[in-house]
Formats: sequence, structure tokens, C-alpha cells
Amino acid sequence: MIKTQGYAALSATTPLQPFSFERREPKPDDVVIEIAYSGICHSDIHTARSEWGPTAYPCVPGHEIVGKVTAVGKKVKRFKLGDQVGVGCFVDSCGKCGGCKTHEEQFCTNHTVFTYNSLELDNKTPTLGGYASHIVVKEKYVLKIKKGQPLDRVAPLLCAGITTYSPLKRYGIKKGHKVGVVGLGGLGHMAVKLAKSMGAEVTVFSTSPNKQTDAKKLGAKHFVISTDAKNFEAIQGKFDFILDTVSAKHDFTPYLGSLKMDGTMVLVGAAPEPSEVSAFALIFGRKKLTGSLIGGIKETQEMLDYCAKKKVYADIELIPATEINAAYERTIKGKVKYRFVIDAKTF
Ligand code: NAP
Ligand code: ZN
Ligand code: ZN
Repeated sequence: MIKTQGYAALSATTPLQPFSFERREPKPDDVVIEIAYSGICHSDIHTARSEWGPTAYPCVPGHEIVGKVTAVGKKVKRFKLGDQVGVGCFVDSCGKCGGCKTHEEQFCTNHTVFTYNSLELDNKTPTLGGYASHIVVKEKYVLKIKKGQPLDRVAPLLCAGITTYSPLKRYGIKKGHKVGVVGLGGLGHMAVKLAKSMGAEVTVFSTSPNKQTDAKKLGAKHFVISTDAKNFEAIQGKFDFILDTVSAKHDFTPYLGSLKMDGTMVLVGAAPEPSEVSAFALIFGRKKLTGSLIGGIKETQEMLDYCAKKKVYADIELIPATEINAAYERTIKGKVKYRFVIDAKTF
């Protein structure tokens, strides 16, 4: 077994703490990864605190993982020792269903094995995530990361990057499109960078007036303070596409009103509480309200290669493991610029 040092939540209400555990010895198709950096996603916080339903403890969160290969199983072909690699939100799936066959393993109808708070395909071994020194992952679910990039700033691409890239690509965002991004956090700031890189004119909707300067630096042309209903009056019917990354319950109505006829609003933010939507907000203008979940392995690799080519990386605050709990509090308050990343040497 591979001795691993990490951080875990032992209950919904206690701070995360140092936690030692063992990873499996590599099977023939496994890759052993020494983790270099691990991003802090708001989903880690929702899960560590059982906000989406009961979590299985101990919970080692983390699904924005980058590192280097230190061992490979006998049948591994795509990776060798020393390669730079990434691991995202899931580490296995059935491989046979419609979702898996169309490269959308996140929608496996049998069993997507999420990187943490999930069970392996054996239905009994709990998965433990990336706030750790090492991880062992089946080759097929490991991503290649090109050399010569700032690895700490690449880590958040494994969740925040793919979650925002996937819907922008799916809805064909390009030059001439007016795109709104709701919430300027980890996902939101990647959405701004990616939408801008695809040629869109980007508007940020934010509850934090002090993020205006940053929003412009990240690539937004306009900034709307979303807490004042008056600010929506002049922008009714203006947007082709709105990506909502907000982590808490809020009203979708003003955003739906800001869409053009046939416009689309995609929810990626996963607030624990449901929101009400009036039929009128959708039927006038034939608006579409839909959702999106991360992206499949093939698309995640495509996104990593795209970001390498365009030099699109996350803006991060690099922290030692001892600051994880403080980072959670700041993330909840929307006070991170714009993603915390843990230096895995400090586990
Ligand atoms: P984050 O860094 O905390 O950013 C969320 C942003 O939402 C905040 O910075 C804030 O932006 C805004 N916000 C927070 N509370 C709000 C409230 N009460 N009302 C209005 N706006 C509020 O979180 P994240 O890591 O980007 O994740 C965002 C959400 O996406 C989480 O729910 C996460 O679980 C989910 N997620 C979903 C997927 C998926 O596949 N669908 C993948 C990853 C994460 P402003 O200060 O600009 O208002
Ligand atoms: Zn995430
Ligand atoms: Zn499947």
C-alpha cells in the first residue's frame, strides 16, 4: 500500500484536519501520482459540510489535482514516470452505457465513481480525493498536462475550467455573442476568461461591487451589480447566453429577463436549496433554462490543450494545507482571488 498524508473532514461541523491513509498498490491499468497542487472548489465545501445530503466521513475532498507520475501498472501505455498529469472530478465509470460510449462519463447511467465521497465500482471502497500527497487512478481517467505551464494555475482547470468550457463550447459561443457570467468566484472567473478567449463580449453579474476592476482585467467589458434590481432595467433582452456559477440560492428571474428571444441560461452553480421559477419568465421569449455538469474525459483533455494553447490559466492564491479551513471561510464570503490552491508539499 502507498502511505498517503492528506487533510480530511471527520464530520460536517468540525474543521478539516491532517489525516493519514493508504492508497491501493497500482493495478495493471493504474497510474500512481505524486500530487503537486490541489485546488479548492466550492463543491468541496458543500460536500465536507454535508450541504448536498449526508457525506460519508472521513471525507478527503479535492478534485482539481495536478502532479507527476511516480509509478505505472504493467498495462499502462499512455503514461511514463515523470509525466505531468491531472485528475478531475471522477476516476472511473462503467465504460459501457450510452454516457460512457459518447465520452460523457460524468453522466454514466450505471456508476460514475467521483473522486471523493463516492464508492469504487466494487460498491464498497470509498474514494478519497486530492487534498493529499498521492493518488492512484485508472489510466483512462488521467489527463495529460503539457510541460512549460504554471502547474499551480493549471490545477483549477480540472474542475472550474472544464465546468465552464463545456457549456460555452456546447452552445457554440463565439465572436458576436453577448455572454453574461453570474458570480465572480472560481468558476466565474474561468468563465470570463474562456468566453473572452472565444471572442464573446462578456458581462459579469456580481453581488460584490469591489470586484469590478478585477472583472475588467479578467476580460469582461461590462459589470452589473446584481443586488440592485434597477441595474437590470437597461439590459432586458440583451444576452445570447448566461452562465450562472452562484453557489447559493438566488432568483433566476432577472437573468432570464436579460436573455434575448431563444436565449439560454445554463446553471452550473449547485446551490443546496431549490429556487422557484415562474413559467412566465420562460414562455415570453421562449427562453431556455438548463444545466451542465463538468465534462467528459475527452472534452477535459480538449480543454486542457485549448488552455495551454491560449495560455488561459486560473488566478490563484497558493496556500499551505494548514490554511484550508481559513480558505473555506473566505471562499464562502466570496473573498478569494479567484481560486485557492493547496501546495501538496505541505500535507
Ligand atoms: P465560489 O468560488 O465560492 O464562487 C461563487 C460565487 O457566487 C461567489 O464568488 C459570489 O460571487 C457568488 N455568490 C456567493 N453567494 C451568493 C449569494 N448568496 N447570492 C448571489 N451570489 C452569490 O464557488 P465555485 O467554486 O466557483 O463554485 C460555484 C458553484 O458551482 C458551487 O455551488 C459549486 O458546487 C458548483 N460547481 C458545479 C459544477 C458543475 O459541474 N455543475 C462544478 C464545479 C462547481 P460575487 O461575489 O461575484 O457575487
Ligand atoms: Zn469542483
Ligand atoms: Zn457508464
